Amino acid sequence: MSSKMLKFINTKKAMPQKRKAEKRKFDFDEIYAEFSKNKVEEQAGRCSQCGVPFCQVNCPLHNNIPDWLMLTAEGRMQEAYEVSSVTNTFPEICGRICPQDRLCEGNCVIEKGFESVTIGAVEKHITETAFDNGWVKPIVPKIEKEYSVGIIGSGPAGLAAADLLRRKGYQVIVYDRYDRVGGLLIYGIPGFKLEKEIVTRRHELLEQGGVYFQLECEIGRDVSFTDLQEKHDAVLIATGVYKARDIDLVGSELKGVVPALDYLIASNRKSLGDDVPSFNEGTLNAANKNVVVVGGGDTAMDCVRTAIRQNAKSVTCLYRRDRANMPGSQREVQNAEEEGVNFQWLSAPTQFLGESKVSSVRAQRIHLGQPDSTGRQVPNLVPGSEFDISADIVIKALGFDPENLPSMFNQPALEVSKWGTLSINWKTMQTSIKGVFAAGDIVRGASLVVWGVRDGRDAAEQIDKFITNTSQKKIVAAE
Ligand code: FAD
Ligand code: SF4
Ligand code: SF4
Repeated sequence: MSSKMLKFINTKKAMPQKRKAEKRKFDFDEIYAEFSKNKVEEQAGRCSQCGVPFCQVNCPLHNNIPDWLMLTAEGRMQEAYEVSSVTNTFPEICGRICPQDRLCEGNCVIEKGFESVTIGAVEKHITETAFDNGWVKPIVPKIEKEYSVGIIGSGPAGLAAADLLRRKGYQVIVYDRYDRVGGLLIYGIPGFKLEKEIVTRRHELLEQGGVYFQLECEIGRDVSFTDLQEKHDAVLIATGVYKARDIDLVGSELKGVVPALDYLIASNRKSLGDDVPSFNEGTLNAANKNVVVVGGGDTAMDCVRTAIRQNAKSVTCLYRRDRANMPGSQREVQNAEEEGVNFQWLSAPTQFLGESKVSSVRAQRIHLGQPDSTGRQVPNLVPGSEFDISADIVIKALGFDPENLPSMFNQPALEVSKWGTLSINWKTMQTSIKGVFAAGDIVRGASLVVWGVRDGRDAAEQIDKFITNTSQKKIVAAE
């Protein structure tokens, strides 16, 4: 083994420097700086090069983490980049926003006594170094194929599939109803976690490599699904999930009670330089307002931290379970606390109060009871524990469900699960309609970027097999 490795005993875990909360809460720039060359080599060298690397097993992409850590520790950055980019289409994005505490780093075997190896930040550093040195090049397929694939949705799942299919020489058109490429990477996730240039850089690279994007084109409205099937040899549905779960309480209809994604899209558009009337008029702008966010997932954390950056008067997060049971990343909760968010754990709203506009939220304390069939403790309201919180904006961040795709696409044969997600055969990634594949949140329900990338890559492999088999059958039939 390289003498550069196994340094975890004497070298402490470090993350890249985090900007101080007092400074970072005034802008939307990323909060972590880059590792220096020496620091990244030192941190990568903490890895003990396990024979069975649990970090790799628990990375949805099964990234070859021990190898690229060793290459980084030895300063062989171009090789590290080559190994890292074989399994991950967007390592610099996953390195930034994967919940590493639940995936690779959370399963690093040296964690117990010595704290895990820093994996995500090293992964990001490798690809950023590759970009700086011009090692990341647009795709040049070895051959051009006459077959084409239509991809609906330019989120991580659609883009990962587009990248792999184009490398194999397919003609790829990505359709998106938005005016920008990236799905939730561009309009959901705020800049303090993922700066927008990181996403546009990938968009431009794909375009230079011959992927064609047809934006502001909603399939099912501007172009019919059948037209798409006729035009392409295969179709991939990667449309994500966007129907916001609602809160059915007295006062839900009051002005100022808004869905999380509307709020985040307005803020992201503003950061991108767009003219956003709902922001300018104050409907979706937290400046000088008391803000209450309901929910405890990643979306809720992004909303509270966005409100802080918009200079809200106060920001409160209401979550019905305790901190240990939050679905959101613990790292993000800590960042939010540092930035001044007030968390009301074990609390749920019972009513929104106000005349025509919301002015406060009535909430009640929760006691966690016996676990239900899923193993999670059931939240019960504690009688007589009501309290009110002033609120000029209430943001509902309770998760997302799929839209009704069979109806939107006028394809009743498109089978869905009981949750409304698309049913696929996981071996072939194919839906109930021949030649139509699906990937990402629309199959899994609201999930993670890294799973979108994994599904997109798997779908691309299966689409390649499908088109190859179908075209061979056509040749045989013609003979
Ligand atoms: P999406 O990213 O949703 O992309 C789908 C695309 O399809 C969109 O661009 C949409 O416009 C387009 N589309 C939909 N219907 C049509 C149609 N009919 N015609 C044309 N185009 C259509 N994950 C993490 O790993 N880390 C995080 O920190 C994180 N933070 C998050 C924060 C927020 C606020 C949210 C909402 C999610 C977050 N996630 C995070 C989850 C992650 O963003 C998603 O799991 C991931 O983006 C799903 O990828 P996708 O490609 O399946 O769908
Ligand atoms: Fe960890 Fe995500 Fe990178 Fe996998 S893709 S190594 S889970 S940061
Ligand atoms: Fe290295 Fe930790 Fe992975 Fe083992 S589990 S190979 S120590 S990063």
